[in-house]
Amino acid sequence: MTNDRFTNRQKMPERPANVRNKDFEEVPIGFDEKLAQIEAARCLECKNPVCVSGCPVSVDIPTFIGLIKQGKYLEAAARIKQDNPLPAACSRVCPQENQCEKYCVLGKKGKPVAIGHLERFVADYEAEHESGGSVPEIKENGMKVAIIGAGPSGLACAGELRRKGYGVTIFEALHRPGGVLSYGIPAFRLPKTIVDREVGYLEKMGVEVKCNYVIGKIKTIDQLFAEGYRAVYIASGAGFPKFMNIPGENLNYVYSANEFLTRINLMRAYANSDTPIEVGNRVAVIGGGNTAMDAARSALRLGPEKVYLIYRRSREEMPARVEEVHHAEQEGIEFMFLTSPIRYEGDDKSNVTKAVCLRMELSEPDDSGRRRPVPIADSEFEIDVDSVVVAIGTEANPIVPDSTPGLETNKWGYIVADESGHTSKTAVFAGGDIVSGAATVIEAMGAGKKAAAAIDESLR
Ligand code: FAD
Ligand code: SF4
Repeated sequence: MTNDRFTNRQKMPERPANVRNKDFEEVPIGFDEKLAQIEAARCLECKNPVCVSGCPVSVDIPTFIGLIKQGKYLEAAARIKQDNPLPAACSRVCPQENQCEKYCVLGKKGKPVAIGHLERFVADYEAEHESGGSVPEIKENGMKVAIIGAGPSGLACAGELRRKGYGVTIFEALHRPGGVLSYGIPAFRLPKTIVDREVGYLEKMGVEVKCNYVIGKIKTIDQLFAEGYRAVYIASGAGFPKFMNIPGENLNYVYSANEFLTRINLMRAYANSDTPIEVGNRVAVIGGGNTAMDAARSALRLGPEKVYLIYRRSREEMPARVEEVHHAEQEGIEFMFLTSPIRYEGDDKSNVTKAVCLRMELSEPDDSGRRRPVPIADSEFEIDVDSVVVAIGTEANPIVPDSTPGLETNKWGYIVADESGHTSKTAVFAGGDIVSGAATVIEAMGAGKKAAAAIDESLR
């Protein structure tokens, strides 16, 4: 093992690309016990575990991997859950290559320990062997806190506060909790039963989740205080669709990625449903992030002949996870780099038929540090399309800020909050995408945990 330790990283088994690209079943199969043991044995259980510094919720990585080595899988799952209430979800969607695994010492001379795959192994083992997971003992403190939004940030904050004895109610606008984990990320990456199980664990701890409850419409934050909530954590996300504002975006079959993915994920538009979604034979997805990749791979599973992914920069600048780009390519998505649509054209029924695009080249880096795409003169060309999914990012959801006097927002509509989540309004905290703008699941959870600590400090 010593010689192999640096290179012998175990690969995640996956379903073949030409089979999985026709259904919504999960793509990776998961480690079995043998693979988990070989991979865990690579970990040095470092005294100064630099991998932990790369995890926004500080999961005790060497300890949980040490427990795997001893075959104590349920203990390993319980250890992770002390820091992260959603391990089965995070192990599937976190960009580990830019977080814990980026810092793993083995990565300096070879390949980092597959921390995410091991986390998934224990989370799935627990699901199979222990219904619902073991719940910690909770000493009630008699105070209650309201959380707005049941996405990863709200759920993480809820878990932390509940452990400290607070009565916690989460108000969620949609009919299902999970935030992007439920309505954005498709089932072939994150099966919905997993989200339900992880939310179920929090409910088992005593967290109350009220769905179909839009704060700012049904009730305001000030009304929540009047009902006895001592603090409020706003975790309403950045789920507002964004368009490029180019001609033709109002044609039929031009979708926002939010609508497209929500209809597929929450309303089962791919199955026999009251809300089917039609894509025709040629689909163009615009964008280069995780959302674009999810939209393209979901579109492919609806049966068109071609799915193009149109991105204005090159492969190197794509913000999507490396693994997702790789999967999309394997499954048959056609990438068109350095290309940007400038207008859409339609037929006499106002159905989209063409995306008119320009070729781009990269110039100096912009504010994001990525090289700025600039159009190449006279490079206009057309692609025949039957549908378009615009996945160029999202914006702050304005409902809560608009209904809360005294809550400061920045010029883009995001709530202004400090590192621990304090906002301009007393006893109101905020975190996750509604503060940072679109980020990652684990960063949103990290913000939720920090806010829980600040709420606890302010109420005690
Ligand atoms: P959200 O997950 O957006 O949750 C906010 C919740 O608040 C929602 O459920 C919403 O319905 C609810 N809400 C909003 N307004 C109200 C209101 N007024 N009253 C009550 N409830 C309200 N990150 C990764 O790390 N890995 C990935 O692979 C990845 N893939 C992604 C794929 C897609 C398609 C998208 C859109 C994002 C992806 N991300 C990924 C980003 C990640 O999902 C987000 O950064 C994260 O979900 C943010 O968490 P949040 O809790 O702040 O917000
Ligand atoms: Fe194990 Fe790598 Fe973390 Fe060290 S840095 S404890 S080898 S995962």
